[in-house]
Amino acid sequence: MIEGILVDHAAAENMLKCTQQHRPLEAGGLVLGLRKGLYLHVTEITRPLPWDRQSSTRFQRSPKGHRIAALRRWRKSGGKMDWIGEWHSHPGFSLSPSSIDIRNWHDIVRQRKAEMIFPICDGRETAFYLQCWGDRGKFLLRQFEKDAVGTFYLTPAAIKRRLRETGNEAYGPTVELP
Ligand SMILES: [Zn+2]
Repeated sequence: MIEGILVDHAAAENMLKCTQQHRPLEAGGLVLGLRKGLYLHVTEITRPLPWDRQSSTRFQRSPKGHRIAALRRWRKSGGKMDWIGEWHSHPGFSLSPSSIDIRNWHDIVRQRKAEMIFPICDGRETAFYLQCWGDRGKFLLRQFEKDAVGTFYLTPAAIKRRLRETGNEAYGPTVELP
């Protein structure tokens, strides 16, 4: 079970810029990074390619170019860099996933047999969803810490545990999505 993710600032910036550049069309791509035990480390994303289908309500990634980009990075990293998720934009609208998004995420995780993250970016901020493998649902991750390298997000369960450990309950309840 993944407890949290670290998102490099460069990758987060790239998603924001890409969303703004493609507005009003949706954009998206792969999320690449490292699996480190209980944590995922997001180091890179891919941007839309000519084979992808983009509209104002839909982004459909073609397998073609993104797979080549992912393979190239995987080789360069000595086999460490992994495909850890998929992102897409909702330019100027809700950060919540649509029913189509939710279905896609389930399919991807079932095929991949591993936990994956699915960021949605509206051009101003990004919501990071963790989709579990099996029937354990999905979680909106909460920002926990920020430093020079990146931002650290945790699952609601991990935050609850940390607050319990430090005896600090002042943050209020955490939200679990259906
Ligand atoms: Zn969507």
